[in-house]
Amino acid sequence: YVYAADKNRYECGMKYRRAGKSGILLPEISLGMWHNFGDIDIFSTCKNIVHYAFDHGITHFDLANNYGPSAGSAEETFGQIMQKSMAPYRDELFISTKAGHDMWQGPYGTWNSRKHLIASLDQSLKRMHLEYVDIFYSHRYDPETPLEETLQTLVDIIHQGKALYVGISKYPKDKAEEAYNYLQSQHIHCLLYQGRYNMFDRKVEQEGILDQARQAGSGFIAFSPLAQGLLTNRYLNGIPTDSRIARGGFLKKESLTPETIGKIKALDKIAASRGQTLAEMALAWLLKDDLVTSVIIGASSVQQLQDNLMCLKNTAFSSEELKQIEQIL
Ligand code: NDP
Repeated sequence: YVYAADKNRYECGMKYRRAGKSGILLPEISLGMWHNFGDIDIFSTCKNIVHYAFDHGITHFDLANNYGPSAGSAEETFGQIMQKSMAPYRDELFISTKAGHDMWQGPYGTWNSRKHLIASLDQSLKRMHLEYVDIFYSHRYDPETPLEETLQTLVDIIHQGKALYVGISKYPKDKAEEAYNYLQSQHIHCLLYQGRYNMFDRKVEQEGILDQARQAGSGFIAFSPLAQGLLTNRYLNGIPTDSRIARGGFLKKESLTPETIGKIKALDKIAASRGQTLAEMALAWLLKDDLVTSVIIGASSVQQLQDNLMCLKNTAFSSEELKQIEQIL
């Protein structure tokens, strides 16, 4: 292996938080591969981002069957990195995958049947060159499949040794409650609820999903903490050609309304007064209390990751700062 991890990787400021009532500690910042790791992206950049992350204490990498584009290619990229350089560190890594969104054609290529979840996880393990994942998620609630079929499949996946833990993502509150209870009744703990949470989208806070996870003894892990890049300096002066909006994905230019741009600019001023970039402040804001176990960031360059990690230097907010932020939001 040409890569040797930095010997000081656990002494450079990363902190670890316990995922609910469990034995698992996760880094406050985790790295997600929804974008930037597909077969349209440059492999050496992907590899450098993963190495930089691991060298700075990021032990948790978040994937899903359909990440890319093309679907499956982010897991292939990660699999190549595992084979080429990260395999010796497997026991220092906490790797996730998920199934439930559209993946392959036909009636078994999506949603939450036992057929789809098991076939999809088998494919994911092959693509990533792994024998097991650390956590496997039901990626979204399926209104058609009986919830018990999905949850029992999660239980069986653990018993088969293909995942060490399970979690749920984007489940409505009442279905999350059923999931926590069913899994508990089968003596399986739901390790994490994964949901969108950022300054611009606070539904999980408002709907009580954060409190519910805590009461169930599960951790909460936040995705899109930077609102896909809106909560950074990326769009302060137009739309850069290499940005997520310009590359055409789920983030549309219509999101950049004058009102949102106004909020971004006002938040950027508060961040500057704290000596942070807006990205740093947006992440720090999520980590200000212990309701969130970890935030899963995306990064299209090592520089972005570097910037985001700086947030760990200051995650405390004065009541005056919090008040100003509330007024803007
Ligand atoms: P973010 O909100 O962190 O957005 C990441 C994007 O923001 C980057 O690609 C980059 O955009 C921009 N960015 C990041 N850091 C900076 C910076 N310091 N300065 C300027 N711009 C920056 O997260 P994602 O939306 O990517 O989601 C993160 C992860 O969460 C995913 O990879 C996935 O693992 C998970 N997720 C889970 C979902 C689920 O259904 N469970 C759904 C969505 C995400 P640019 O490319 O323009 O440079």
